[in-house]
Amino acid sequence: MCGIFAYNGKNNTVPFLIEWLRNLEYRGYDSAGLFSINNSWEFVVEKAVGKVSNLATQVEKNIDKNISYSNGIAHTRWATHGKVTQENTHPHYSQSERFFVVHNWIIENYMTLKSELEEKYNFYSQTDTEVIAKLFEELFDGNIISTLEKVTEKLVWAYALAVIDKQNPQTLVGAKLWSPMIVWIGQEWVFLSSDINAVSHVATQFTTLEDRETVVIKNGKYEVFSLGNKVEKDFEEVDDRFQAADKWLFETFTEKEIHEIPTVLRNSLKWRINFETKSIQNETLNELNEMDFDRIEIIASGSSYFAWVVWASWFKELADIQTEVRISSEFLYEKFIPNKKTLYIVISQSGETADVRECVKMIQQKDCNTFWIVNVVWSTIARMCDMGLYTHSGIEVWVASTKNVIGQLAVLLTMWISLGLDRNLQMKDAKSLIEKLWELPAQLETQLAESQKYTDLAEKYKKYNNFFYLWRNILQGTAAECSLKLKELTYLHAEAYSTWELKHGPLALIHEDFPVVAINPMWSLREKSISNIKEIWARNGTVLWVISKNDSYREIYNDIIEIPETHELLTPFLPLIPLWLFSVEMAKKLWKDVDKPQNLAKSVTVE
Ligand code: GLU
Repeated sequence: MCGIFAYNGKNNTVPFLIEWLRNLEYRGYDSAGLFSINNSWEFVVEKAVGKVSNLATQVEKNIDKNISYSNGIAHTRWATHGKVTQENTHPHYSQSERFFVVHNWIIENYMTLKSELEEKYNFYSQTDTEVIAKLFEELFDGNIISTLEKVTEKLVWAYALAVIDKQNPQTLVGAKLWSPMIVWIGQEWVFLSSDINAVSHVATQFTTLEDRETVVIKNGKYEVFSLGNKVEKDFEEVDDRFQAADKWLFETFTEKEIHEIPTVLRNSLKWRINFETKSIQNETLNELNEMDFDRIEIIASGSSYFAWVVWASWFKELADIQTEVRISSEFLYEKFIPNKKTLYIVISQSGETADVRECVKMIQQKDCNTFWIVNVVWSTIARMCDMGLYTHSGIEVWVASTKNVIGQLAVLLTMWISLGLDRNLQMKDAKSLIEKLWELPAQLETQLAESQKYTDLAEKYKKYNNFFYLWRNILQGTAAECSLKLKELTYLHAEAYSTWELKHGPLALIHEDFPVVAINPMWSLREKSISNIKEIWARNGTVLWVISKNDSYREIYNDIIEIPETHELLTPFLPLIPLWLFSVEMAKKLWKDVDKPQNLAKSVTVE
């Protein structure tokens, strides 16, 4: 979602701000802006609706290139309060235009604050953020850090903020509550950013601000405070866990990321499974086996939720552990009955998903055990929980998650085998699963090589407006995930439905212009599903079959996607790449922006 970037140092900030706003673009946003100033009090403010390139064009036109600005703040906005307009674009400023503010997230009590301030100040925007700028003017006591603390004390709920006082042009301040803010150290400069990936390719060290900490940066030097007291922070070295986003030669980031999947899978497995001895080797997983729990609750949303739907059935299958999967936003508002013998597993690509993070807080307040699975190293959720595992998927740029779903599945499977071996799973069964797992990345590579097939299918299916994705049993999560991708990328209606349940109502919708994607590989429920799908045929329905390569019933199919044979429990992996690529090709044919679907954002940091 929204992004903050701020720079204080020796160089001209403006090109840096634009470059790093581009690095934040993958999160999804609707407008962008910046404020920069130098020690001679010369300053610029530019805001543009739409892409960062619009802001860049405006800056190119309006800014005098002979002037250098050493202190600056910039923002990509994902509108929460007020329409996508120039007035609502950040930075926002106080009445005297002295204090300039960029802000991520939501101030829940802004209406109350605004009505108090309206007696004295005129508001030009519909945003909650403008309240913060006006409060700075109202509460300014001559010291920017104590003023920042007074201002943030008044704000209910969440923010990452960066502020510049025009009268003190060398100084930049920042603060955060429940929204990430990272301080980066380089040579002769300090950056602030809301995203761990934004500047990792140039910085050498970083630290993350804790809630209610504030940072003051002056002439390339920084100090951190907590409630008025100076805090010494520990710094982490930037290493190759942090990678810059790059599209390589693919037309879209989406395709690039889908093509990275075999590598992601190998990386994710190689640290945890010894394929020679066919055994699990991982300290965290060993520690997990020492813990006393007899129940698991899995909390996630979006694609992560569907990944869990797949593996919850495995948990029961392999490890004999009662497992429930919960949508984080619902879990948060249902009655929570804490159970010390339950392991609460939370999952999030970014490690910043707002309602997942709130669930962690709620669980920890009741002293229960939390375990994370996230992709982004050092993210908020990873730092909050007791223990966890990274998916090692590398930076995921496009809004709709793909390679990280595979990374999550791989981590979960390893966990399940490890827990299973500690319970009722037989060593020989675990070994045969691990053998098949070893073959999986190469099998996925063969699917990637068949891209023309997905293009041809998209050409045929692009005329339809509605789709059912049919599943049975452990394929539920896969079907739900693939139908979600079609929705996200093409804006067409797609729904996942149990093949068996169809005749209890939805069959009424079936006709020749309402196709179904029937996922039915060679597995124990195949014959039953064929009978159900034949009922669709009998009603002139159009069927795109996802079947195993060695399926012998060829004559009954018209359109097919073939998937390699594997261990039955690994089946949920195999329809993903073909059906994701099918959605990408459909989106391209319908002229949709594959990397940036309308209305959506990466890293959903608002509830
Ligand atoms: N709530 C603020 C707004 O609507 C900030 C949104 C964001 O995080 O981009 O302007």
